[in-house]
Formats: sequence, structure tokens, C-alpha cells
Amino acid sequence: MSRRQFIRNGALTAGALALAGCSSDKPEAVEARDEATAAPKVEWRLATSWPANIKLLQNAAARLAEHMAAMTNGRFTIAIDPASKTKAPLGVFDFVREGQYQMGHSASYYWKGKDAATQPFTTMPFGLNAQEQAAWFWYGGGVELMNEVYAKHGLLSYPGGNTGVQMGGWFRREIRSLADLRGLKMRIPGLAGEILARVGVNPVNVPPGELYTALERNVIDALEWINPYLDESMGFQQIAKYYYTVWHEPTGESQFLLNKSAFEALPVNYQSMLLVAMKECSFDMLCESVYHNALTWSEFQAQHPDVHVGALPDDVMAELRRQTELVNAEIASENAEFAAVLDSQEQFLAAAKEWTAISEQNYLDLREA
Ligand code: CA
Repeated sequence: MSRRQFIRNGALTAGALALAGCSSDKPEAVEARDEATAAPKVEWRLATSWPANIKLLQNAAARLAEHMAAMTNGRFTIAIDPASKTKAPLGVFDFVREGQYQMGHSASYYWKGKDAATQPFTTMPFGLNAQEQAAWFWYGGGVELMNEVYAKHGLLSYPGGNTGVQMGGWFRREIRSLADLRGLKMRIPGLAGEILARVGVNPVNVPPGELYTALERNVIDALEWINPYLDESMGFQQIAKYYYTVWHEPTGESQFLLNKSAFEALPVNYQSMLLVAMKECSFDMLCESVYHNALTWSEFQAQHPDVHVGALPDDVMAELRRQTELVNAEIASENAEFAAVLDSQEQFLAAAKEWTAISEQNYLDLREA
């Protein structure tokens, strides 16, 4: 504001105050200010990829709606439709792009068929862990890169809640060698599916609400979902008795998707509230996930003694690591945006590895000694 404007506005305010009479409960200046700052009424809709009963994932959108309503005295509402309502859990990208919904809550790597560069924003096999990925997103240019990738689809995307480190998945049969992977039909989204395809697995992407039935009816032989807290509630341990530790999803960031035009049409204060609220919801999911996994795991093995828990054999892991590098390089050679995102993550990973080793890893080893 220029000095001249300031003086003029100041004079107006003083004049209005002087004129304020007893006929109104509010001085005119206050009424004028209310009008100038009146919060418009906004009614948005948000579609998620999750069944309503998967609270950890659905909570992010629910919290966002609560925060926005509270911060705007109910002027900005967000109505949430779970996958059971839309009947299209993997339709969220198109719903939001076309403006049918202003927002979505989903996972970026579900869109690999639409845009390969969306995949690294959820997780990368052998890549960053949750803490490192958050640092990359918010200080290493990750959020900016993500929005460059999504902008060409008329979308914006922000971190929407992290599950933390996941588990490697459930198998009906023990995996003793690479040969045991050949011909397996496995639900596994993202790059990990492509990597497993190179060693003979047939990867499929089954919507979350259909996972148990698909495993039970032999539509799939194996699956990965999330972590003990959510996996146990899905009941996979009743069917598959081999539960492997992670290689493919060392972090699992879900996403808020926004219709770019709808976001840009909002008043600046609403945009700021949304950005702050999304960040809070993202952090909250990580806290909720770590807490409940710790409690679930403390009883898991005693409650399910017939479930074998362990890592995939060393030679299987070595081959998956080799294939990961080949798949990443192949996609990067065909897709410049994927290459830019991968390069940004890998540069940070190289630095983060050293720091994590001397700090976290050193301490974790010490704590267990
Ligand atoms: Ca997963």
C-alpha cells in the first residue's frame, strides 16, 4: 500500500468512526470491514480411492474437511465420497481433472498408465524413507516438481499422508528363489510391479476394496497392501501365510489432488488454509500409522503364529535391485520428466543415505544392542 493510499484509507476510517451513531449495534467502520473481508461460501466435493472403513487412509480427507470448516466458520465445506460411493476407486484422477470433484485423495503411483512421471511421488523401490522423502518434498524441490508434472493435466498435487515404511506383501507359498516368483499373479502397483514383471511375476492392480476377495478366490496368488495395522484388519493372514519385509515401498505418501482452476479461483486466504491443512493431515497420517503399527506388531506374531515373517532371499533381493536400476533407466530414457524427478530424488538420496547411516541407523543399532 502506498503512503497516499494509507492516508486516504486512514482518513476514511477516521471519518466513518466519527459518523458512527447509535442506530446500529455495530459501528459503520466495522460493518464496512466485515463486508470487505466476508468469507465467500465454498462447497467442494472430494472423491477418495479408499473404502470408507479404511480409517487410516480415509482420515486424511475427513480431517481436511474438519479443518476447513472450523477455520472458515463453516463457510468452506468439503463433502467426501469414498470409493464405495463413486464405484471407481481409480477414477479419482479423471474426476478431479474434469471438475466433477474439486479434490481427490489417492496415491500418485496409481496413475502410471496416464503419466509415468507421477510414480516417484508415492515411493521408489530401494529409495527414500518417510523422513527423507518429507525432507525432499518440502525442502528439496519435490512439491514443486510434483506440481510441474500434474499441471499439464490441469491438476495440483500435495503430500496427503504417509503410511511410513510398508511391508513386502503376502504370499500363499514360500519364496525360496527367483523360480518361485515366476508365474505368480500379484497385486502390486507402481514401479515395483514393472520390476517384478522382469523376473516373471504377473503384476495386477486390484482396487483396495477387492483385495481380500481376489486373494481368497485365487484371482491373485500374492499381494502387497500396506503394513500390519491395515493388513491385519483386511484379514490377509487368514489366507496367505508368508509375510515378507519391504524392498519396494520404503515410504508411502498418499496425495491430495486438486483441480487447478478450482484452486486458483479461491480467495488467497482459502488457498493458504488449504495448503496448511493438507500439510497437517499429511503429518497426522504418519503419526497415526506409526502408532498403530507399533501396537499391532507388539501382538501380531503371538496372535498369528502360523504366519512366517521374514525377508526375501538375498539372491532374489539382489536381482530385484538390479532390475530396479534397469527399469528406472529405461523409463528415464523415454520420459524426460520422470528422469528429472528420479535425478532429484537420487541426488538427495545419495546425501541422505550418509546422514541417515551415521545418525538414525547408528542409533537404532545402538538401541538394539
Ligand atoms: Ca503398498
